[in-house]
Amino acid sequence: MVKYSEFEFRTQPWFEASWFDRSNFKGFSHFIPMKTIVIHCFDPRASEIPKAVADHFGDEVYPGENILDEHGNRIGNTRTLFVVSNAGGRALSALQSVATMDYLFQVQKVVVVHHSFCGATAFLPETLVADFHDHHHADISKMFEHDSLAITDYEKSIRHDVELLRASPAVPKHIKLYGFFFEMNSGKLTEVVRDVPA
Ligand SMILES: [Zn+2]
Repeated sequence: MVKYSEFEFRTQPWFEASWFDRSNFKGFSHFIPMKTIVIHCFDPRASEIPKAVADHFGDEVYPGENILDEHGNRIGNTRTLFVVSNAGGRALSALQSVATMDYLFQVQKVVVVHHSFCGATAFLPETLVADFHDHHHADISKMFEHDSLAITDYEKSIRHDVELLRASPAVPKHIKLYGFFFEMNSGKLTEVVRDVPA
């Protein structure tokens, strides 16, 4: 037996791969009712973002709580809103998570939130690339789309990320997209862009 395989879903006698058939989808939604993904910066000063988004929509559960079976095993959670955090809260870094979560749960909404006084507003993409080259003798200039590396204008970065999500094959076309600005000192969340398919 492969080490740790007893902890894998695919090796459990009760697990059924057919839960993920698109024609009769069940997925993991019967364990966790996930429907929304929030992409935001991992700056600890902006950690209220997921709760602020949940409150804004009003029909989300965050943080939620574990659901236990009679043996105390964690078999589910009541959370509906999942979080992807990365430097700047950029959509580019979240694409793999959106595709994976859609396979497991079927995603309904993806929300991008950029916050005030974000570190990503402290430099330009070219500065980051050039400095990295100078200090580490490594070329990262082709690794990342430059508009996703820094925030030079919040309105533009938020729109850019919603457009990037909409154009990506990793984001199913029916998913509702939202872009918000979060002013972390007041806690105010402002909708900047909405792309909801008809
Ligand atoms: Zn930030």
